[in-house]
Amino acid sequence: MATALFYHPVSLLHDTGIHHPESPRRIEKILSILSETDFDALDRREATVIDTAKLLWAHTGDHVDRVFRAIPDTGYVAIDGDTVICKDSGEAALRAAGGICDAVDAVLNGEVNNAFCLSRPPGHHAERDRAMGFCLFCNPAIGAYQARNEHGLQKIAVIDFDVHHGNGTQDVFWNDPDMFYGSTHGSPLFPGTGSEGEVGVAGNILNCPLPSGAGSYEFRKVIEDNIFPGVRDFKPELIIVSAGFDAHREDPLASLNLEDEDFGWVSKRIVELSLELCQGRLVSILEGGYDTGALSRSVALHVRALMNATD
Ligand SMILES: [Zn+2]
Repeated sequence: MATALFYHPVSLLHDTGIHHPESPRRIEKILSILSETDFDALDRREATVIDTAKLLWAHTGDHVDRVFRAIPDTGYVAIDGDTVICKDSGEAALRAAGGICDAVDAVLNGEVNNAFCLSRPPGHHAERDRAMGFCLFCNPAIGAYQARNEHGLQKIAVIDFDVHHGNGTQDVFWNDPDMFYGSTHGSPLFPGTGSEGEVGVAGNILNCPLPSGAGSYEFRKVIEDNIFPGVRDFKPELIIVSAGFDAHREDPLASLNLEDEDFGWVSKRIVELSLELCQGRLVSILEGGYDTGALSRSVALHVRALMNATD
């Protein structure tokens, strides 16, 4: 079986303004690399629009209403200092959340081995009742609830290696002992959460902050010594990855020093962990990564690692 790639071109129409780092150029550059013959074996699928009722698995009705009421007919609206939307942002967000549900369906129905969701806007900063940090809806958490509510799985783990802490996923999972969130991230850094003392209602949150300047050695050590043992103890039936690539040395928004190869390594190790714990059930979704060259090279290694699980 193949690796699925979920995508929809409306993700390119989510326009955040000419100087915004979370731009359509990120997706364009990734699509360019994934068009190479090395990636011919990908099972390319269109991300569908999520049923808006499913957004309420992770969010308050007030939050969902506020997002859609804010969408302008023309121009831009800034929900906060970082989070900018335009007229197509609503559909892009609905297909980002829909795409991860589609990916969960495809993996759990046995149609594909694993899946990558190439989407914008990202999701892991969107809290239960608040959009922030370029994120409108918490895609990884919604994907986890798709697995529980539509497929009957009980325990789902999200692994997040974006350089920023996924305060949104943590917030949604905080009181749910059967949802696990494990994160490596730079600290101090936006959004300011993610200390080791934040553990959730039942030890189901595992935060591993890394100091500014940390690189390959520190990252690999905390993945092997902290994140993976936490996931193993939790015994998930599905692993979802919040795949952010902004811990790269070349990224302009943070100060960790990972190289392309570190993203290839962590991707391969997460594939191996999924084979060890949950029959290889693995769904990954794009979060951050703002140097388009480093981002696209690193995503290529990530997707290649997912495809190699099927070789
Ligand atoms: Zn980030």
